Amino acid sequence: MSELQHQTWSRLNDLEYAPAPESRDIVSIRPNYGLFIDGQFTDPGSHQGFQTINPATEAPLATVALGSAADVSRAVISARRAYDQVWSQMPGKERAKYLFRIARLIQERSRELAVVETLDNGKPIRESRDVDVPLAAAHFFYYAGWADKLEHAGFGAQPRPLGVAGQIIPWNFPLLMAAWKLAPALAAGNTCVLKPAETTPLSALILAEILQQAEIPPGVVNIVTGDGSTGAALVSHPGVDKIAFTGSTEIGRRIQRELAPSGTHVTLELGGKGANIIFEDAPLDQAIEGIIDGIFFNQGHVCCAGSRLLVQESIADEVQRRLVRRIEQLRVGDPMDKNTDVGAINSAEQLSRIHELVDAGVAEGASRYSTTCTLPDKGFWFAPTVFTEVSQTHRIAREEIFGPVLSVLTFRTPEEAVAKANNTTYGLACGVWSEKGSRTLWVAERLRAGVIWSNTYNKFDPTSPFGGVRESGFGREGGRHGLEAYLNV
Ligand code: ADP
Repeated sequence: MSELQHQTWSRLNDLEYAPAPESRDIVSIRPNYGLFIDGQFTDPGSHQGFQTINPATEAPLATVALGSAADVSRAVISARRAYDQVWSQMPGKERAKYLFRIARLIQERSRELAVVETLDNGKPIRESRDVDVPLAAAHFFYYAGWADKLEHAGFGAQPRPLGVAGQIIPWNFPLLMAAWKLAPALAAGNTCVLKPAETTPLSALILAEILQQAEIPPGVVNIVTGDGSTGAALVSHPGVDKIAFTGSTEIGRRIQRELAPSGTHVTLELGGKGANIIFEDAPLDQAIEGIIDGIFFNQGHVCCAGSRLLVQESIADEVQRRLVRRIEQLRVGDPMDKNTDVGAINSAEQLSRIHELVDAGVAEGASRYSTTCTLPDKGFWFAPTVFTEVSQTHRIAREEIFGPVLSVLTFRTPEEAVAKANNTTYGLACGVWSEKGSRTLWVAERLRAGVIWSNTYNKFDPTSPFGGVRESGFGREGGRHGLEAYLNV
């Protein structure tokens, strides 16, 4: 960008929006939360607790129970009883009624859920309001529709549930991941013990209140908050028939190793290093928005983020110029402001990981551009960043950063694009941008990834299967395929 252009853009960015904060009055966060076991919240005082904070301000939000191995065991026993005596006996059309009820209650309490999610996670309210919460409701609606049609799902005449499902979820989409896990499991007739992530337990606890409102039979869903030790206790509990895990590749590997000799069913949704591939005939205006959405949506805390941009060499200069201009327009700051595009990094730990990899990018010789926005003093923040002159051997091109950091590489031919996109140990998602359907199909056939988007990115829909290959894990969530993970097929 020339100096003159830069000055013009800086002036444009000086035009201030009036603050448009969402009110937090709609939520009343309790000071302490117990565990949700057998349809009731336990007394918080009976557990060791841990604090969950607002990552945008570092202010404490609540103290949440740290589930012990004994707590996990009580939850599993409750889930087993509910499975044997109630849920597995109930006709699908009756189970469906509960799922529909949960979906409608999520809609009814959507503003409250969005506010809690934003306070606990740091994501912009616009995203929790327009993406996380409506999609969570949509998952329950969608799987409610399957509950009485399992024999038509293509998994045999009388597919059976697995039993008790232990479900461990991450902090990047707390409510949505809970919905991805619970809705298909319940529709298929399983009962559940859900372990939310330690930095974002609150929306799952509101969901527990919703489950009570929906009068779901006690024990069908148990929510045990805690840390890695709580998750580990769930994984090693002999009463669990299935572990569904979304999180880091490192922990996923550990879980698979531990469960390999047992009969426990496992599905893993792990990390990624998605390639967003832009051909010279791509619709460029849309592609720029797709690149931005691919990496800066949810601060880049997205396992399928388009964190590697592969641009055809003939348009690389133009794309890079437009990208720099576009990221300067991103509004970074208070996640509760309805105009905010990029919110807070979820934790101090994640922020230091981002810093480490970005420093490595600079040290290894890539060229860094970070936006000139002013970051708040308190809380965890990272300015949107684009690296150019990245080589495939750089750590920023190989390791998952899980932050608002894009690495740009170039290619000349479709073959080279495919080779570079596949040059990763992961295989979760890719995007292909081209006007030519035949080219997109040619490339898509050769990409090793579970999800491939054409002329779009980060599109999620409950009817569409999502999941990885290689070190991104195995098993699918969403769609008819998502039922398979919870049926004995
Ligand atoms: P991240 O690096 O994104 O935080 P993790 O894999 O550490 O991802 O965490 C994802 C989820 O797995 C969280 O709910 C976390 O508490 C849980 N977890 C962490 N360690 C273990 C473990 N050893 N066994 C089971 N679950 C774990």
